Amino acid sequence: MAGISRPRGTEDLLPEPLARLNRVLAAGLQVAEAHGYRQIETPIFESTDLFVRGVGESTDVVTREMYTFPDRGGRSLTLRPEGTAPVVRAFWESPLRQAPLPVRISYSGPMFRYDRPGKGRYREFHQFGVEVLGESEPEVDAEVIGLAWRWLERLGVSGTSLQLNSLGDRECRPAYRAALLEFFEPRMAALPELDRERLRRNPLRVLDSKELAGEGILDHAPRTIDHLCPGCREAFERVQEALVALGIPFAVNHRLVRGLDYYARTAFEVWHQELAGAQNALFGGGRYDGLSELLGYPPLPGVGFAAGLERVAMISAPPPPLGGPELAVLSAPPAGQKAAVALADRLRAAGMAVLLDAGVRGLRAKLSFAERSGVRLALIVGESEVQERTVAVRRMAGRTQVSVPLEGLEGRLRDLLGNGESAGEGAS
Ligand code: AMP
Repeated sequence: MAGISRPRGTEDLLPEPLARLNRVLAAGLQVAEAHGYRQIETPIFESTDLFVRGVGESTDVVTREMYTFPDRGGRSLTLRPEGTAPVVRAFWESPLRQAPLPVRISYSGPMFRYDRPGKGRYREFHQFGVEVLGESEPEVDAEVIGLAWRWLERLGVSGTSLQLNSLGDRECRPAYRAALLEFFEPRMAALPELDRERLRRNPLRVLDSKELAGEGILDHAPRTIDHLCPGCREAFERVQEALVALGIPFAVNHRLVRGLDYYARTAFEVWHQELAGAQNALFGGGRYDGLSELLGYPPLPGVGFAAGLERVAMISAPPPPLGGPELAVLSAPPAGQKAAVALADRLRAAGMAVLLDAGVRGLRAKLSFAERSGVRLALIVGESEVQERTVAVRRMAGRTQVSVPLEGLEGRLRDLLGNGESAGEGAS
């Protein structure tokens, strides 16, 4: 077919995959609510500056992956590539800023990154995330990780591993950065161009270089945790103690850095064994105490995570098959059209899901469609039913039919649906 196809890297979410995504999200929102988080939504597009400043000019996201466009008023807008900078902006621009701190927030929605599409990597994908704003106690870092972990447990996901690191803060990061540069200086010539570029722009990113991963160089590179200031070291220990108290296993991963510049101290990712290679992260997060100031607001510590719903859905247990309506209302031409329309409406108002087929085509075709749609009972309204104020209720399974008065019909239908056997009173 020569029609217009969907843009590369996007998906149409059809009923089953969408139900799966929604189920994963609903579980996340429930677990977040149980931890005292309240849901918000921010716009899908924002001022480009929000991400350039908040995510960092040197990051892959900003340099290569943003969907940026001028609107008709000449403003530069960007389809959001992530949710944390928008949540912090929303905090300062709303009455949330007057709420007692910390403020606990959850969010979800589509994100956009011009990335190379592949398995588990799309240009439009969906995230669920939480943020705690206005709290620097490290126990809250563990709370956020614990929330994510309990969510996965509720979805029946196993085979995950929690990777944990501390990236230091403003106090100790400069010395660590210098140590990294000193280590790589004599090896510079041997590095791929991409890593030389990383060293110039954002030296920590070299640690998760795919190009260097196999080379063994990284095994000898300086480790952040050997350069932590006393405050960061204590915080890192307290996060680990709280995780032990929660009974959540973790591995300290010295190479774990986050792609976004605003992280400080705790960084974590949850990996899954089935998601191979660079796409193995179900989610990532950490502490971003410097973000608020980068955006031009007062200082505000924060910690959170963002999870890719597609990736979590991919490895969670499949949901039960989707059901459609169990009832169809069919008119029997040449009569019954108006009565069928009114009856379907009445049953829906009583809380039942109803397929309506009130057109003029023959009853046989309508019955066949209702059967193929998985309907259990077909309610047929023809001339005699209209006159007698009844409806013919046909049980699709046994092809048996019974006449039921309109009065009290809802109760009778509930009985029939609740107990399929009692429908077979008369032969059709
Ligand atoms: P990040 O903000 O890069 O840490 O991403 C957080 C999570 O979002 C990742 O762990 C993935 O689960 C998901 N994610 C990020 N980028 C993509 C993408 N291009 N396609 C699908 N999921 C993604």
